[in-house]
This record gives sequence, structure tokens and C-alpha cells, in this order.
Amino acid sequence: MLRRFFSYYKPYKNLFILDFGCAVIAGLLELGFPIAVNQFVDKLLPGKDWNLIILASAALLGVYVLNTVLNYIVTYWGHMLGVNIETRMRRKMFGHLQKLSFRFYDNNKTGHLMSRISNDLDNIGEVAHHGPEDVFIAFMTLIGSFLLMLSIHWKLAVLTFLVVPVLVWVALHYNGKMTKTYRGLFGALADFNARVEENIGGIRVVQAFANEEHEKKQFAENNGKYRTTKLQAYKIMAGSMSINYMMMRLVSLFVMVCGTWFVIRGELSYGEFIGFLLLANVFTRPIEKINAIIESYPKGIAGFKRYLEIMDTAPDVTDQADAVDAGWLKGDIVFDRVSFGYDGEAKVLNDISLKIQAGETVAFVGPSGAGKTTLCSLLPRFYEPNDGSISIDGTDIRKMTLSSLRRNIGIVQQDVYLFSGSIRENISYGKLDANEQEIWEAARRAKLEEFILAQPEGMDTVIGERGVKLSGGQKQRLAIARMFLKNPPILILDEATSALDTETELAIQKSLAELSEGRTTLVIAHRLATIKNADRIVVVSEEGISEQGRHEDLVGAGGHYSRLHQAQFGVLNS
Ligand code: ADP
Ligand code: MG
Repeated sequence: MLRRFFSYYKPYKNLFILDFGCAVIAGLLELGFPIAVNQFVDKLLPGKDWNLIILASAALLGVYVLNTVLNYIVTYWGHMLGVNIETRMRRKMFGHLQKLSFRFYDNNKTGHLMSRISNDLDNIGEVAHHGPEDVFIAFMTLIGSFLLMLSIHWKLAVLTFLVVPVLVWVALHYNGKMTKTYRGLFGALADFNARVEENIGGIRVVQAFANEEHEKKQFAENNGKYRTTKLQAYKIMAGSMSINYMMMRLVSLFVMVCGTWFVIRGELSYGEFIGFLLLANVFTRPIEKINAIIESYPKGIAGFKRYLEIMDTAPDVTDQADAVDAGWLKGDIVFDRVSFGYDGEAKVLNDISLKIQAGETVAFVGPSGAGKTTLCSLLPRFYEPNDGSISIDGTDIRKMTLSSLRRNIGIVQQDVYLFSGSIRENISYGKLDANEQEIWEAARRAKLEEFILAQPEGMDTVIGERGVKLSGGQKQRLAIARMFLKNPPILILDEATSALDTETELAIQKSLAELSEGRTTLVIAHRLATIKNADRIVVVSEEGISEQGRHEDLVGAGGHYSRLHQAQFGVLNS
């Protein structure tokens, strides 16, 4: 996993080298100060040569300035490195999310995914910058200061070194604990985000049911869990910080007492003693660093693991190696013994065979849950059949690239999904490079022109999140305009008008009829009046396709369709 983590540094090699180099030099300079003080006290002080003392001070000042500049570079450019890595990961993750299949989104919550792409990646950025640098410098400081202490007084140095195993133990112990806690923390945060996302998204339902108290209780549960995990993390942090603080003081005290003993015995000069004390401080500094690492590293690693979980999820449906661009299709569709189930067990579609000619309008009717929507969603390969195959114009759809296949298919559903921008943006979603004239033409054909002209902002009118500022009929017209612009040879109308009142439905039916002219059209509708004129009606039941034919024939056949017809119109023949 660490190897994969470091592979993200590749594009920023120069930045990494700059940051790392500066950090190492700054670390070495830190090591030099105690030695300088040592020399100052032992060599310069007894000589009482003011010129030399001023010269040395000036040199020291120069080094301080240099160190300041280095620290600026490490802080700014180093963080730039982290931010760049984080940004690149975010871009990759978003790209991957665009590719993941319907099945993935059936089983994942929006809020969870949001939390991964925002919070988790934030923490990765922090670690990407500080992680390798801090670890390296911690070791460098530890070893460097130890060597210098050895050169001053080896016995005292060895005694001081005995503290290292304890340091390592503390680091390992708390690091493991923290990684686990942070994984839990991010999970809790994701749950919390998902809850808020769902609540805000459905706030109109919440208020309509007057279920605010219920929602508050549920939220309190998530919030409480988040609090508990967060406290857990702080508890561990407090523990490791206290132990570290104690260790540092103990080392200083120990050096002071032992050092004094050696000074009294004449084994250590005053300058060496002061230098050694300062070095011992530097020696314990990695403990502080380790503290910082214990705080940030587990967060980043937990975040990175969650990042990898998404990146390692392969889309169920992808372009096959031999897939080619489908170009513009005519729309001859053949379902050949297609079987499908969402979870591999319960079959929704069983051995369905069906031929649809280019330009034909085929209506699907049948009880709710029979699999009409499912059947239609196999055509753009939102899901892959478990058995059998689907072809268009004689070519298996698996042999076409996904984007070229989907370019040929337009879908208008009952619950239109609109984006929060302007009317223009939403219409042109059907063809991103459409010009003004094409957009207006599409609006006109969808009978939306009058409405748009009546708006003070015209085409630039903002329609609110998911188009909340529009009526059901207006939303549907927008979806139709979008489809006119897309102009696909194959059209799927899935209960497109079911949510509308009868009058609006009739009006929209006209637009839909115009839209489906010259296209292969699959219509799903439960109001038979809207599909009477279809070229063919296919009755789908749990057992599969139970009958098909023209309206008049089916009404007379005395099967499922005629019963449905009777139920809706109250007469056997009409
Ligand atoms: P229809 O459109 O005919 O009303 P659907 O095709 O929507 O029926 O649904 C057929 C069956 O598949 C139903 O039993 C439904 O519960 C199930 N189903 C639909 N969508 C999903 C999904 N995304 N995941 C799992 N099961 C689903
Ligand atoms: Mg349906």
C-alpha cells in the first residue's frame, strides 16, 4: 500500500526534492547549533577576542536567516506538494466515480461518497506533505544528535540512548491504535454526512410528514457516535502526548544530573556540558515529531485506505477491448433470450426474446414490478444481462463503446433529474456544444418557448436544485427539449407522463408523439389511453412476455390486456 501511496509523488518529483532537501538542511542546521554554542563557550569565551565573537555572532545570524528561509519553503512548497497530490487524487476519484456503474450507486450512499472525496482526501494531503519528511528527519535528528553526543562524551551518550526503545514502543503502540480509531472516525463522519445529505435532500418530505422530531433523534444518534469516536481519538492523543512530555523531561533531567557528575569529575567542560544538554533536547525532538506523526499519519492512511476502496472498485460495465464506435444506429433492436436479476439470485427477467424494428413504437404494459424499467435499462447497458444478448442493427451492444451506444439512446423518465443551473444549461445538457438557435428550436418543439419568454430572465432563469422552481409539466417539457437536442434514433419513455395531471399529460403526449417520430420508441405506461396507438403492445408479467400485438387484437384476445383494459375503461370493447 505504501508503494501505491508513493506512486502519487511521481509527477511532483521536483517539488518533493526541493521540499525534502530544504527540510533536511534545516534539520542539519538545528543539529549544528549546540555544537556552535559548545565552541562558543569553550573556545571564544576564554580568548575574550571581541572581533572574533562579533564575527561568530554574525555568522550565526546568517545561519538563522537561512534557516528561516528554508522553513518558509518547507511550509509553503511542502504543502503545495501535499495539495497537488490531494488534488490529483480527487480528480482521479471523481473520474472513477463517473465510470462506476448503476449497481455501485444502488449500494452506496451519496453522503458516504461525498465524505470520501472531501474529508478523507484532505487528510491524505496533510500526510503526503509531512509524512515522509517527518519520518526521515526524525531518524536523521535521532542519529545525528546521537553521533554528536558520542563525540562529546560517549558514556553519557550511551546512557541517553537507552531511552530509544521506549520511544519506539510508544510510537508503534499509539500509531496502531490511532489508525483504527481514525478509520472508525471517518466511517462515523461519513454516516453523519449521509444522514444530513439525505435529510436535506428530502426535507420537503420530512416537513410534509411533520417528522422533524424523528429526524432529529436519528441525527442525534449519528452525532453522538461521531462524538464518541472523536473523544476516543483525543484520549489516545492525550495519552501519547503525556507520555512523550514525561519522557522528554526525564531525558533532560537525567542528562543534567549525570552531566553535572561528569563535570565535577573533570571529564566534561562547561561548554561541552551546555552543548550536550542542548543536543539532548534535539535528541528528544523526534518525540515531538512522532507526536505529530501519530496525529496525522493514521488519519492520512485511514483516508488513503478508503480512497483505495473506491479506486479498486471496478465498474461492472465497461468498454470491451474489441468495442468500436457504433456511429449512428438505425434502431433495429433484438433481445435474444435475455435473463437478468439484480443480485444474481431472484430473476427479474427470464428468457426474454423480442424483436423491435427500426422506427417502430412498442409499448410495454404490465403490473408494477414486472420488470419493464429493468428491461429498458439493459439497452443502454446500465446493467449487464446474466444470460442472452441484446443487439442493435445486428451488432451486439457489448461490441459498441458505451458512450457511442448511449449517444444513440434517449431516456425520458417519470422523475426528471434536472441540474440546478439555468434553463439554457439544462436544455443544452442534451448536446453540450449546441448553439443558441438549436437550443431555442428544441425549446419550441417541446412547447416550452412561451414559458421561457414569459420568464424575466428568459433562458437564463435559474430553476433551483433539481428544478424545484418548475411544475411537473414544465420539468417534463425541459426533459423533452433536452431530448430533441440530443436527437437519438432510439427513445425510451418510462412512465414519462404518469406523474402529471390528465390535462398536462395530454398536452405532453403531443410533444412526445412528435419526439418519437422517426425513432425506434419503447414506451412504458400504465394509462392505456396513452399507448393505444402504439405499433405494438407487449404485455410483461412476472412470467415474462405474456402477449403482444396491436391494441384492437389484444382487447379481443381475452388475456391480461383485455382485463386491464376493462378495469380502466369499464367496457370490454372500445
Ligand atoms: P417495473 O418497471 O415493471 O414496475 P422494475 O423493472 O422497476 O419494474 O422492477 C422489477 C423488479 O426489480 C422489482 O421487483 C424491483 O423491486 C426490482 N428492482 C428494480 N430496481 C432495482 C435495483 N436497482 N436493485 C435491485 N432491485 C431492483
Ligand atoms: Mg418502472
